[in-house]
Amino acid sequence: MIVGILNQKGGVGKTTIAVNLAASLARTGARVLLIDADPQGSALDWAAARQGVPLFSVVGLPRPTVHKEIGQIGYGYDHIVIDGPPRVTDLARSAIMAADVVLIPVQPSPYDIWAADEVVKLIDEARVYKEGLKAAFVVNRKIANTAIGRDVGDALAAYPVQVLVASITQRVIFAEAAAQGKAVHEIDVDGPAAAEIEAVVAELLGFTQ
Ligand code: ADP
Ligand code: MG
Repeated sequence: MIVGILNQKGGVGKTTIAVNLAASLARTGARVLLIDADPQGSALDWAAARQGVPLFSVVGLPRPTVHKEIGQIGYGYDHIVIDGPPRVTDLARSAIMAADVVLIPVQPSPYDIWAADEVVKLIDEARVYKEGLKAAFVVNRKIANTAIGRDVGDALAAYPVQVLVASITQRVIFAEAAAQGKAVHEIDVDGPAAAEIEAVVAELLGFTQ
């Protein structure tokens, strides 16, 4: 599976989700590559903060040619996760063209819901060339038992992109793990954060089977 984590809005959780998805896929013994397509290189920073054995490979590829290079760079890997860039449209477009599933993190905030129309537009354009391109929103930083958390699914329903059943809650462990270059399951293997990531992975894998 080639999954692109995209949203031109910054701070929605692309990198957080990308590293944890990659780690979760690698846990099953799969060979996983994480492509950092963000010029800021946050996924590379994550890898640099890590001590000990890498869970998966990470390469920086902040170029609008990811879709052309992925065959060669991704050769031999079972799964590839692309951590998408903010703003830069040509990089985002290339990452979308490289992916077979696009995952769009959105926070339960009206600003995130409005901003999502940009990435939805890019997906619509890409579908002209890639009819079978799958795309889904995932709600990130959900705050338990809040109305906005429940309403976000309804608001996103206006877009022609589905919303994953699985969602990710606002949890300090995501930042704590990142600071050490770790995945959440390495800190709390049976914890709720690891379970949420696993549920996202299972749903994504279901799309590509
Ligand atoms: P992006 O890559 O879209 O810019 P990041 O993954 O860097 O977003 O996340 C932005 C900030 O939000 C980071 O400080 C990260 O630790 C934090 N964050 C993301 N998701 C969560 C979450 N589910 N719970 C708590 N903090 C989160
Ligand atoms: Mg990022």
